Amino acid sequence: MKKTNSDHFIQVIIFDMDWTLYPMDGDCFKESSIWKHIIFSYKKLIIEKMNANPFQADEYYNALLKNEKTYWTSMTRVLWEQFNMTREEIIKYTWWTMNLDFIYFCENNIKKLFNIMKKKWILLFLVTSAPYIWSKKVISYLQIEDFFEKIFTAEDFSRDKTLIFNEIIKLTKINPSNILSVWDQYNSDILPAKLLWMRTYHVNKINPIEHLIKEI
Ligand SMILES: [Mg+2]
Repeated sequence: MKKTNSDHFIQVIIFDMDWTLYPMDGDCFKESSIWKHIIFSYKKLIIEKMNANPFQADEYYNALLKNEKTYWTSMTRVLWEQFNMTREEIIKYTWWTMNLDFIYFCENNIKKLFNIMKKKWILLFLVTSAPYIWSKKVISYLQIEDFFEKIFTAEDFSRDKTLIFNEIIKLTKINPSNILSVWDQYNSDILPAKLLWMRTYHVNKINPIEHLIKEI
């Protein structure tokens, strides 16, 4: 069957942030300098709060977080409860102190891509499991913060993206087949979008973000 123009018509694009809009060191979050920096910051916090030496901080960290080492949000919760701090204080201590050098911006001309999408009247959304302050820091550095209709961060959802995908469908009233979802992780991100009948673009070494232009 011959495809019509409407089969290809993308009206909304949902973007992931880290490893999708730009490459970073390490192949995933747990292998990245971001993760190393967060763990370093947790231990630094333990040293300060408990007046501990680095060895004691290591031991305390391992005992305190042994059941929580799967995800940064649960580790953050344990620490704010432990030290009577707010979530924001912990996030500022860990994510906000992070250097943008971990991100390899230079090869991507991401702003140019966003300008092309804007000229085509495509509505853009950012959905990231990172906290708001990190997202804000990164997208303002990339000069793309004004392009998004709405930004969803770790503050808005737990790990399952389906709720947010449905919210975007409701908000835009656009058929999922005209929504393109762009991610670097298959199981946690591409798959839930496919299950809602969205179109997907899997960013990887074969399909870098720059080649997205061919899809729109
Ligand atoms: Mg990602």
